[in-house]
Amino acid sequence: MRYLLSFVFCLIAAPILHAQTAATGIPYFQQHVHYTLSATFNDDYTAPSIDGTGTLEYTNNSPDTLHELYFHLYWNLFRSGSYGESAPNRDHDPDSKYGRGGIDINSVSRPVAGFNEEMLKMPESGSLRYEIDNTIMRVYLHKPLLPGETTTIYFDWHGILPNYGIRSTWGWHDNGARNFATAQWYPQVCVYDNHGWHPDQYIGMGEFYTDYGSFDVSLTLPKRFSTVSSTGWLANPSEVLSDPVRSQLDFAKVHPDSIVRVADYSNFRYSTISKDEPTRIWKFHADSVRDFAWCADEAYIWDAVYDNGIMHNALYWDNSRDFWEKEAAKIELLTIQTNSKFAGQYIYPNIFMCETYEGGMEYPGIVFIGPYSNGEREHWAQNTMMHELGHQWYPMMMGSNETDYGYMDEGFNTFITTFVHEKYFGRWNNSYGTGLGFNDDERTENYRSAILQQLSGNQEPAKQKADEFLSYRDYADATYPHTSSVFFMLRYTMGDSAFADFMKLYYSRWRFKHPYPDDLLNAAEDIERREGDTNRVRARGDLRWFFNEWFEQTWKLDYAIGKFKVTPHPALSPKGEREYDVKITIERKERAVMPLDLVFTFDDGTTEQKWIPVDDWLRTVADERTYTYTFSKEPFVATINPSLELLDVDRLNNNKILFADLFPWPWMWFMVRKPYQADAIPKILGDVKPVDRYASR
Ligand SMILES: [Zn+2]
Repeated sequence: MRYLLSFVFCLIAAPILHAQTAATGIPYFQQHVHYTLSATFNDDYTAPSIDGTGTLEYTNNSPDTLHELYFHLYWNLFRSGSYGESAPNRDHDPDSKYGRGGIDINSVSRPVAGFNEEMLKMPESGSLRYEIDNTIMRVYLHKPLLPGETTTIYFDWHGILPNYGIRSTWGWHDNGARNFATAQWYPQVCVYDNHGWHPDQYIGMGEFYTDYGSFDVSLTLPKRFSTVSSTGWLANPSEVLSDPVRSQLDFAKVHPDSIVRVADYSNFRYSTISKDEPTRIWKFHADSVRDFAWCADEAYIWDAVYDNGIMHNALYWDNSRDFWEKEAAKIELLTIQTNSKFAGQYIYPNIFMCETYEGGMEYPGIVFIGPYSNGEREHWAQNTMMHELGHQWYPMMMGSNETDYGYMDEGFNTFITTFVHEKYFGRWNNSYGTGLGFNDDERTENYRSAILQQLSGNQEPAKQKADEFLSYRDYADATYPHTSSVFFMLRYTMGDSAFADFMKLYYSRWRFKHPYPDDLLNAAEDIERREGDTNRVRARGDLRWFFNEWFEQTWKLDYAIGKFKVTPHPALSPKGEREYDVKITIERKERAVMPLDLVFTFDDGTTEQKWIPVDDWLRTVADERTYTYTFSKEPFVATINPSLELLDVDRLNNNKILFADLFPWPWMWFMVRKPYQADAIPKILGDVKPVDRYASR
């Protein structure tokens, strides 16, 4: 009952509690967008392009009068001479040059009074002055947009579809069939929030920050493209899908949990592209989304599985058939179900997972997965699917600013994906294999990457604009494995139950909104104050120290066991039994602090756990503290960080064994060795970097 009540309370009270944004003091608001986009695909063997017209209905919910609007023209990144082309830290071959690509704006206008559809063809009716600087367009409004007002901006553009393999891309696969994974394809208004405009240039490394709203999209494509999938849902299925395809989708709906073959167009054979090929118009609608992406293919195989009101679609190529038909829909179902329980219900009616030439990228309701080539890539492909699907939570439903705070989506997502991964492959030995014979699982791998990066001296704070990291490696380490490990530490610090409630609160409070780093902190602190376990965190309600040291600093953590002494208690217990006094010194060797689990192991193999609250280190300058305990049995091993949940950079000093009792039986050797498995690696390898595990974004 308490659980139910508190959940309802969260839903109702969230907007009131958070009417004020902590960072700026300005009441929270967010702009609303409704795009109506219509694009015609101009087919060409080497340089396909689109011609688009669009209207943006833009509602100014801010307290400010706006005199201008900014738009992203992302594809200009691919134009020769773009800012991104020369960025030293971009995540692709530094010698490659961009050439063909980009968006040309034909006109921007704001319809005058009496505006009607016909006038769309005469945009000069309310032409607006605009300036384009690489990937950003600044549009001057001839009449200011007042608080609470809605305006309509009309634009038309010509865009060359980029085939450079970054997020939006295209290429050929089986028998000359083509695949277009199309994103960032329309002029998109920049976000205006409590911090003002966010006209961030698209450099390549950083991702996106976009407004929530709805989309009506119509795409005119040659009929040779048999499948078009997208964000949202298809609004005219009877006009574009054949009867058998529609009946297979209906069949899937009444047979939940069964993977259904919806279509198979793998018999496609290339024929010369003709300019006046017959076309058809695909119409889509989407609500409560922060972007709209689509994918067109000439030869997809299409599987679907329906569950809990959601159609899970897997679209792939003949070349990858064996792997995808066995794995894809199954992984999709598992990922959506698992994350829905842990991170909040998946809310859209469809999810499309498409094999494309983009290595791994996420958009609302649709994800792009790189081409599968079998063998070694199997594990990579499975993990990429789980990862990209996980982005439906962060940032698709919890719409953080990816450009400025990549860790809020990539790190959070890497964390939740760990559980999907473990559910699918098992908790242990589920990773790629390091070849060193050490413990080999995804979770440990992320800890290891984060610790090695700290030891290398190249660590940068996670809370940093993506494009400003010195290298892709530094960005990736701070954003993915480091932040994922930090979420494990947050759970460790808050306790499992409070952490689970924090996940629910963050979802109910920030779904379809724009959380900032302080909002993440506030959600955790609100839960901690309400229900934090006093035995675990004495500094109840205070987690700023945690968020500061793990996201804003590059402090290392290293606790060690110093003196460990066991002596028989001078007197017998009231029951007349022998007792033992333990005196143990814990040393703090680096700047970061954390609460500590301290475990004593006794001769009979049993253990007893003590908790050292973070307060013992927070408000002191102590670099060591001594604790005394009395036990009814004689302990011979003391261990800190037994669960390996701390990013402790030297795990070799986390155990102390009293030598008199060393390994009298083989099982004891196992017990002592186990915590050392992962521990030893950072020490042995020093600053040797592990194989890059996160090629996908
Ligand atoms: Zn990602």
